[in-house]
Amino acid sequence: MQRDLFEEEHQLFRETVREFLAREVAPHHAQWEKDGIVPREVWKKAGEIGMFGFGVPEEFGGAGITDFRYNAVISEEVIATGASGLGFSLHNDVMAPYFVDLTNDEQKARWLPGFASGELITAVAMSEPGAGSDLQGIRTTAVREGDHYVVNGQKTFITNGINSDLVVAVAKTDPEAGARGISLLVVERGMEGFTRGRNLEKIGMHAQDTAELFFDNVRVPAANLLGPQEGQGFFQLMANLPQERLSIAVMAVAAAETVLRTTIEYCKSRTAFGRNIGSFQNTRFVLAELDTEVEIARHYVDKCIRTLNAGELTAVDAAKAKWWTTELQTKVIDRCLQLHGGYGYMMEYPVAKAWVDSRVQTIYGGTTEIMKEIIGRSFGF
Ligand SMILES: Cc1cc2nc3c(=O)[nH]c(=O)nc-3n(C[C@H](O)[C@H](O)[C@H](O)COP(=O)(O)OP(=O)(O)OC[C@H]3O[C@@H](n4cnc5c(N)ncnc54)[C@H](O)[C@@H]3O)c2cc1C
Repeated sequence: MQRDLFEEEHQLFRETVREFLAREVAPHHAQWEKDGIVPREVWKKAGEIGMFGFGVPEEFGGAGITDFRYNAVISEEVIATGASGLGFSLHNDVMAPYFVDLTNDEQKARWLPGFASGELITAVAMSEPGAGSDLQGIRTTAVREGDHYVVNGQKTFITNGINSDLVVAVAKTDPEAGARGISLLVVERGMEGFTRGRNLEKIGMHAQDTAELFFDNVRVPAANLLGPQEGQGFFQLMANLPQERLSIAVMAVAAAETVLRTTIEYCKSRTAFGRNIGSFQNTRFVLAELDTEVEIARHYVDKCIRTLNAGELTAVDAAKAKWWTTELQTKVIDRCLQLHGGYGYMMEYPVAKAWVDSRVQTIYGGTTEIMKEIIGRSFGF
């Protein structure tokens, strides 16, 4: 069935993004995988063609458009390029609402122009060595002292951890107050006592910098608190997580579609027993099942994008999209790898890279199990 999500302006934007990725990303990505990081220059170049911060008001250098279809276009094209190291979706899909919706005018003026130009790279630091799914179990603290908060603690698994200039750190401003004692503070590159740990070695997404962060008596100005008062952090995170999860679902479907397409081509060209492998009934049935499931997933995710644009995407809608599509993605890629035989295990074949890159999708942004908890709780148990 034809997708009817996009208008002509999205398709034009897609051409621009595709051309940019072919020129500035595809030829270099293998080297970035070896380096373990993407150079900051590519962020600035992407900013120049308007790839960041559509929702940033025009007066601060953005496009002033709140339309997640643009975000989806970028993610789909990035996935089709195999550029798993770019942290663009975290910046655009996950962080934009924190910086656009939760900032006051003074903060907007300080941060949004750099956000939109790609000169200020962002990250969110929730997870800690001892707490991931259980956000309320974090131990990082922020103690108010006059005009500052003194932040102490440690974070891990932080996407854009090395490259980031602005880190939205989740900290306890009142450890006794449970969910009402958590606040979001923007910790900036160069603040005394803020250091980066290891750029973590992962099984996939090798060009993506995923790092540890340390806060040792970092004096963060109270002017860097997000939102009008402290103690709102947990609720601010909960409000933004549906968009983060939809972003992951968009990538999941795009990755499954991409791998499926290349696998169908592979099955047309590879021969065994004097026939091409697509002529075996098993191959056709496997591909038919996967193609069906991916297309059904595609339509649910497109509907979620429209619902998000209308301001109506619920936590349950997003949890369904996230767990279903990411589990599907890992299944599709695994079956497609099988259809490649031994070549599927070789990194020169895109399916092999897709296999290692995809594994994290059911984990970050909330695990499959936590997504099912969210959905299950909605039944009122
Ligand atoms: C590549 C990568 C990038 C990441 N980027 C970021 C980032 O930018 N910022 C950030 O803050 N974090 C980031 N994370 C962290 C990620 O969000 C966490 O790893 C994830 O939320 C799971 O937390 P955990 O690793 O502590 O696992 P745990 O919470 O220890 O979970 C371990 C297992 O127990 C299960 N489990 C836990 N609680 C329950 C429950 N109530 N019911 C049933 N099962 C349960 C989980 O589903 C999982 O299978 C990233 C992680 C990775 C790997």
